Amino acid sequence: MENNSFVESNIRKKEEFEELEEESKNCQRCKLYKGRTNVVFGKGSIDTRILFIGEGPGFNEDKKGIPFCGKAGEILDLLLLSINLKRDDVYITNIVKCRPPNNRDPEDEEIKSCSYFLTKQIDLIKPEIIVPLGRHSMREIFNRFSIDETGAISKVHGNIYEKKGVFILPLYHPAVAVYNPDRYLLLKKDFEKIGELIERKNYYKKEGEENGYLF
Ligand code: URA
Repeated sequence: MENNSFVESNIRKKEEFEELEEESKNCQRCKLYKGRTNVVFGKGSIDTRILFIGEGPGFNEDKKGIPFCGKAGEILDLLLLSINLKRDDVYITNIVKCRPPNNRDPEDEEIKSCSYFLTKQIDLIKPEIIVPLGRHSMREIFNRFSIDETGAISKVHGNIYEKKGVFILPLYHPAVAVYNPDRYLLLKKDFEKIGELIERKNYYKKEGEENGYLF
């Protein structure tokens, strides 16, 4: 009986996620829809406990509809690999799902309009670790979780915040490491904290498999 309801709720979750993604394809909540080739909704496992949130799609992402598929994405893959994770083990999305023109920063109004999708993604995935990548994402997540921290990303990257049972670990955006090996090493060190958080929640095997989570 319990197993059945677990399976059913997982099926519902998958359906709701797919419906949400479909809905995003017609979204005109903000002006960014005018310039997009594809909505970049997000990609990965919705049964994960780790959610990465970048800022917004760039040129490559807009063309392919996949988050972090350019140079910053190569860095992200390396960082994931450094803690023995693959993209399919986590879910990756952005605070805005359409590319801002010329890769400018997303505007407050755009972030606010798009938060409709991010809120539902977070509600459905129910991540236990959220990793905002870059200052805009960090600010958005701090606001959402009422985290009273005004420090710049250069000061607070790698700090662990716990709110509403969720660990929040703001990190530098992987793009900062594309031409800067020092920043890469800094990011790599901060990434190790994800491993620590996974252990702290006892994600591996026992609990994870019982709950149907990958991690
Ligand atoms: N930078 C982001 O913040 N997100 C992407 O998807 C790609 C680059």
